[in-house]
Amino acid sequence: MKIGYPQALLYYKYFPLWETFFNKLGAEIILSGQTSKKILNMGAVEAENELCLPVKVFYGHLLSLVDKVDSVFIPRIVSVEKNAFTCPKFMGLPDMARAVGHQVPRIIDPVIDLRQGWKQYLDTIVGLGKELSPSRVKILSAYRAGVKSLHEYKEKTVAGVTPIDIIDNREVDDSGADIKIGLAGHPYNIYDKYTSMNLIKRMREMGVAVTTGEMIEDRVIEREAATLPKDLFWTYEREVVGTISHWSRRSSVDGIIYILAFPCGPDSLVQALLEHEMRKEKSTVPMMSLVIDEHSAEAGFLTRIEAFVDMVRRKKRLSRQKVG
Ligand code: SF4
Repeated sequence: MKIGYPQALLYYKYFPLWETFFNKLGAEIILSGQTSKKILNMGAVEAENELCLPVKVFYGHLLSLVDKVDSVFIPRIVSVEKNAFTCPKFMGLPDMARAVGHQVPRIIDPVIDLRQGWKQYLDTIVGLGKELSPSRVKILSAYRAGVKSLHEYKEKTVAGVTPIDIIDNREVDDSGADIKIGLAGHPYNIYDKYTSMNLIKRMREMGVAVTTGEMIEDRVIEREAATLPKDLFWTYEREVVGTISHWSRRSSVDGIIYILAFPCGPDSLVQALLEHEMRKEKSTVPMMSLVIDEHSAEAGFLTRIEAFVDMVRRKKRLSRQKVG
């Protein structure tokens, strides 16, 4: 069976798990590839105008898989931990995909809802695997292999590699960089080379060492997020808050760039919360928020990045002179 896997949204978070799982069960995974102008345009034309940029991009990836696969994998991700939810877009994604029409292939949409407990979750995994194998033992073994791949992926990112460096199989040497900038935001905003305008590569070309939330251990992010006065019940937003708080409180980066997509309700709340907290804690780490949408112009975007990088550099030089 050829299973299409749109390279969008939570792909960057979970792909080692699902690719390994399906491969072990004998399916062929067909990726939709990197976002391109064509993919973005297809998605923007098809999607409702009010939808956020990452979902429009997802539509484009979905449409690019039509006629190439037997089915498409679009899990309905409701909750990945107790007492917390994902963004409502992830819960409705399979329905939105079905509504597209255009001969969208059959959609494989397991419900991932960890609020229901592990037994229910494992039943979901077995049900998913039954698409490809009648053997429960084989399915669970494929799932264990997927979890192992996911852990190995996390270990690599914690060691200082970004997901796109892993995907591109690239080694990065930033030992010559004079400043370190934390790039925050949802993985689909910061690792999608097209919509982020290749931001990671551009910053590295400016002599900046780039660090991201995936390089921090989950328990550290969770600990930081738990200290905030407002308990966020969106898992992925809490990760962003925990990441930025970690950098800001320890001054472990020279500056922070937070990438948000337009129009994202959860992110706009998180942005206001973070700015308030950083002011209250008298953080000395400068932070810039940048909103991207399908009309973002590369020149204006990069000018703002360059101006921020210059400012961070100047600030670091001045504080060194003062210490000297
Ligand atoms: S969190 Fe924001 S950007 Fe992400 S899918 Fe939801 S609305 Fe879109």
